[in-house]
Amino acid sequence: MKMQQLNDTNYLFKSSVNVGYVHEGSQGLLIDAGIDKSAIRKVVRQLEDKDLPITHLIITHAHSDHYGGASYLKQQYDVKVIAPRFESAILQYPILEPTYLFGGNDPIDELRNKFLEGPPVEVDILVDEGPTNIDPFSLEFIETPGHSYQQMAVAINNTLYAADSYFGQDELLKHKIPYITSVEKTIHSLYKLKNLTYSGAVPGHGKYEENYQETINKNIEYHENLLHNVYYTIEKANMISHEEIVARLCQDMNVKVDQLSIFLLFRTAVTAYLTALINQEKIEHYIQHYRWMFKIKGEKGD
Ligand SMILES: [Zn+2]
Repeated sequence: MKMQQLNDTNYLFKSSVNVGYVHEGSQGLLIDAGIDKSAIRKVVRQLEDKDLPITHLIITHAHSDHYGGASYLKQQYDVKVIAPRFESAILQYPILEPTYLFGGNDPIDELRNKFLEGPPVEVDILVDEGPTNIDPFSLEFIETPGHSYQQMAVAINNTLYAADSYFGQDELLKHKIPYITSVEKTIHSLYKLKNLTYSGAVPGHGKYEENYQETINKNIEYHENLLHNVYYTIEKANMISHEEIVARLCQDMNVKVDQLSIFLLFRTAVTAYLTALINQEKIEHYIQHYRWMFKIKGEKGD
């Protein structure tokens, strides 16, 4: 995990899950905490080698690959933890993530793994969208829901730390069906970020870029294509069950699904495209023979 300096105050620890860092005098602010103690230790070791302070932590959203290392930071460095109001509910009760993915049932043990559930962490400062002063840091929180319910991108000293509101182009192709809870909110958040001008931006998964608008455009195109794919799959099938459309999209996109937790993530993402098509009144949904079914609006079905 290499430490990359972005400007006078801002840094990036580039890894499969990025961690940001901002230094102001005797204070140092981390942006996200990696998936676990060992991931964040690689970051703090480098900061300590350079005598840089660790005093604050922003958690952009309550996915364990971004907050799994947070409770260690709080214990070891007594950092002030800052998080979006809604996400903080999950940070305090991390079992909520495997619970919502599991359709509300009490999650079985195999779902309670470090990829879906990190150690709980107490949040000290709850934030909503807008400019915020947390001495000595002057921050702008930009609400970017769609990937997580109240995810916040953070702009500070002319760098946009964009959380998972967009993915790097390589990561987008690697994920194939990126995790989202709402495609409309995802696309709306992408347009919102595209119109902001900072000297550079870095997503949670991907590289720092000055010309980040191009990558954001690629993300918008990618979601629009997937939305069309879901529509055409329904059109081709005439009528199709929820279970079947999840399977077909995963098959078409050639994603590897070999365990329940991965399946539930893809099921949620595919459902986000379905709910968008329902909201746009392009498809209809109904229950038939105890199955959740979809067809093109106005078509008869079988
Ligand atoms: Zn995420």
